[in-house]
Amino acid sequence: MGVRVEWMDAKYTSVALEVEGAAWHGETEPGEEVDEEDAIPGEVGIVFGADEAVVLSGDAERVRALLARALRQVDEFEQDKRRALADEPCPARPEGGEHDWSLHEDGYGRTWATVVEGDKITAYFQGSEDWSEDGDGDLHLFCGGCMARRDVNEDSIEYL
Ligand SMILES: [Zn+2]
Repeated sequence: MGVRVEWMDAKYTSVALEVEGAAWHGETEPGEEVDEEDAIPGEVGIVFGADEAVVLSGDAERVRALLARALRQVDEFEQDKRRALADEPCPARPEGGEHDWSLHEDGYGRTWATVVEGDKITAYFQGSEDWSEDGDGDLHLFCGGCMARRDVNEDSIEYL
């Protein structure tokens, strides 16, 4: 798989997210050729440390902080991919049709029946009372077919 792993103490490490084909050392220039065995083989790689991929050792607090940061980076990567997908034809529709958007609120898990016409979004509340304590109220359009995400201007939403 071309993954090199070395051991070093966590107190010298940093975290970087690198994409497929970039080198494990995390300092690849755009367009630079990387030997296969040195390249990230999957979609993304998390590089701990400046020179090599490493397996962490060290005190729990530092390791936990690094892993939390890595997970945030992966989440941001996924969200960016879902935003980019919003501008493409929906891969879940035959012959690349439009996304099946519904308005969705993070944390609460609330969705509305949704009609999107250009910039205008009309959301029909369907009586769900599915509240949660940790909802962050982040509203966006979500395609259940392909997971695409489109950020919305809350002023453009009319609730009926
Ligand atoms: Zn879609």
